[in-house]
Parts: sequence; structure tokens; C-alpha cells
Amino acid sequence: MRKKPFLRFHQVLFGIYLIFTATTDACQSPESDTQWNKQRLAMVETQIEARGIRDSRVLNALRTVPRHHFVPEKYRRYAYADSPLPIGADQTISQPYIVALMTELVALKKSDKVLEVGTGSGYQAAILAEICDSVFTVEIFETLSRNARQVISQLGYRNIYFKIGDGFAGWAEHAPYDAIIVTCAPSHLPEPLIRQLRDGGRIVIPLGPAYDQNLYVYQKKKNDIIVERVIPVRFVPMIDSSGISY
Ligand code: SAH
Repeated sequence: MRKKPFLRFHQVLFGIYLIFTATTDACQSPESDTQWNKQRLAMVETQIEARGIRDSRVLNALRTVPRHHFVPEKYRRYAYADSPLPIGADQTISQPYIVALMTELVALKKSDKVLEVGTGSGYQAAILAEICDSVFTVEIFETLSRNARQVISQLGYRNIYFKIGDGFAGWAEHAPYDAIIVTCAPSHLPEPLIRQLRDGGRIVIPLGPAYDQNLYVYQKKKNDIIVERVIPVRFVPMIDSSGISY
């Protein structure tokens, strides 16, 4: 069987383009909100709807949340590109399609309380907060959490709660959760997350070693756990407080 290439050709090209334009002024950021909005609507149409995301709440959330506010100045002009982007501390904001897919898979109801592990830029948390009542989000890097909290409060969200810590342990004080989204990849499903999930709830999580991960949906039903593998993905590893991968 032929091995899957680590990077696809278009990803390599986009990487070269990023490096090139980050060091030159070849491409300017749009200056007005109207231009950002135009880019955002185009993103939803060409990257999200075109790939089969149908949940109107997810599509509306992606049309609403200003992704460029969550991207560092240096990469802002690529905020609506079909790609993850660096956010500092060697971490990334996920590709818009992956955010949309995970949000669709976790199948939230308006009244839901959701836990996110891996706050990063705060973008996924804002998307979740557009759809459901409350979002609890845990991040291991203090700088990222503080930055995300600032952006989120400037945008006026009042239903997102932040914790700095190791999300492998979830956030027991507010459990049980109706849904859990994990945006960094451990090698196996963390036991505390299963315990903190309400019966009938779902966990959407990437699992596996770097460069060999898959996205999974776990559903808790009475004493059973139903598992579904969705697609191969590439996330940053879930790490502990010494930086060791789980
Ligand atoms: N949801 C984010 C994606 C961030 S990438 C966004 O929308 O931007 C994944 C994040 O998981 C990184 O910020 C990384 O620091 C964080 N992370 C890694 N291990 C973690 C752990 N054990 N607990 C909490 N966060 C963790």
C-alpha cells in the first residue's frame, strides 16, 4: 500500500507562499470590515458548504465570528485561507473546515453546556458560544489562554469560561457536560472526559501519534460507548505540564 504523503502538494505550495508573503508586503490585509466580511462569506461558501457541511447553525456561526480577530497580526491577511495558522507557543488555530466539521459532529442543542480542551486562539470557543448556552474551555499555555480571553471579551461574548491547566483532566467542577470537543491530540481517550460527559453526550476528539491521527466521535449511551472514526486529521499533540505528549 502506498504511504500517504506527510504534506500534500497544495499544502507545501501554501507554506512557501506564507513564508514568502510574510516577509514581503506582496499581499495587503483588507482594511475595512466589509472586505473582511466578504472574505468570510466566501470562506463559508467555498471551503465549508462546498465540502458538505449542512448544519445551518454551524454555517451561521462561521459567517458571524470574525476569525481575523483570532489570528496574530502577522498572519491576519490569511485569516480566511483554507489552512491552519500559527498563533504562538508553537500552536495553531485549526483550518476553518475542521472547526466546522467538529462543531457539526458534536451536534449541539441551544441549551447545551460544552467543554473544549485546547482553547488556543479562542476561535473554536467563539463558534461554540454562538450555538449553545455555555462554553468551558481549558488551555495549558497561560499566554494563549490570556490572549484568547482578551479577544473574546472584546468581542462581547459573556458565555465562555476559561481555565488554565491540563485539559486531560477535563474541568470537573462544571461537569457533567452535554458535549466535549478536544482540539489537541492525545494517543487515547482521556478517562476523565468520559466521566465528565452526560449520558447521551458526545466527545469529538483527534487521537493518535503526530502524523497518524484520526478524528473520532464517542457517544455515551447508558453503560455503552459507541465509537465512530471520521477522517484522518493533523492536530498538535496533547501535552502535560512538562511538555510530554499524552
Ligand atoms: N481550538 C483552538 C485550536 C488550538 S490548537 C483554536 O480554535 O484556536 C490546540 C491547543 O491545545 C493549543 O493551544 C495547545 O496549547 C492546547 N493544548 C495542548 N495540550 C493541552 C492540554 N493538556 N490541556 C489543554 N490544552 C492543551
